[in-house]
Amino acid sequence: MAGNWKMYKNASETTAFFEKFNPLVAGASHCEVVIAPTFVNIAAAVAATKGTNIGIGAQDVYWKNEGAFTGEVSAPMIAAVGAQWVIIGHSERRQFFGETDETVLQKTVAALEAGLKPIICVGEMLADREAGKTADVLTRQFQGGIAGLTPEQFARIVIAYEPVWAIGTGKTATPEIAADAHKCIRAQARAKFGAAAADAVRILYGGSVKPDNVKNLMAQPDIDGALVGGASLKPDSFASIVNF
Ligand code: PEP
Repeated sequence: MAGNWKMYKNASETTAFFEKFNPLVAGASHCEVVIAPTFVNIAAAVAATKGTNIGIGAQDVYWKNEGAFTGEVSAPMIAAVGAQWVIIGHSERRQFFGETDETVLQKTVAALEAGLKPIICVGEMLADREAGKTADVLTRQFQGGIAGLTPEQFARIVIAYEPVWAIGTGKTATPEIAADAHKCIRAQARAKFGAAAADAVRILYGGSVKPDNVKNLMAQPDIDGALVGGASLKPDSFASIVNF
């Protein structure tokens, strides 16, 4: 269960969140709990979750370890500050910041080399869905990014299916729509990496997950967890999602 805080919260708001949140999820042994704050608040989040079952992640990463790349942050830098996870290829990065399947692959390899656990996002736009092209888009994103990993690398990633039309819009995919897409992604994984690897990979659903819809989504056999934006910003709501 992963929370993507996007560009919200400063350091003191980060610390205040965890003071309330940590005890609410202390008993959650059925899943891993991850929060991805902005880069500048990773240190505050790591300090506030020391000794808990909560992992901290970044929301993006650059694929070079260091160099003249103004504004970028590398995987070893993220690992050195105590984060364990990184979200890669979020639709907001793809839509607004030029992320491509190729850069998703480069970033994933760099993250894995630094020992980070990547959460790789895929998902179709509304126009793709309306044109009946959801499977084509998911296939292209899988083939262009994830399929370039070795089997050893693939075993260390998490995939997030996030239909772009459901992110931040309040429109959740029905459990059936989400399940269909997850099935399609798992079939891609099976064809490329084999049945055991495809069964083992965790596929999260993301897109307006809330405390009142998480249970039905999680009841789908191919949905292994959730990537949550808006509802992860409040301790009570994200805790009730974690403890669905
Ligand atoms: C997200 O940012 O990945 C996301 C799914 O956002 P929301 O839950 O707000 O739709």
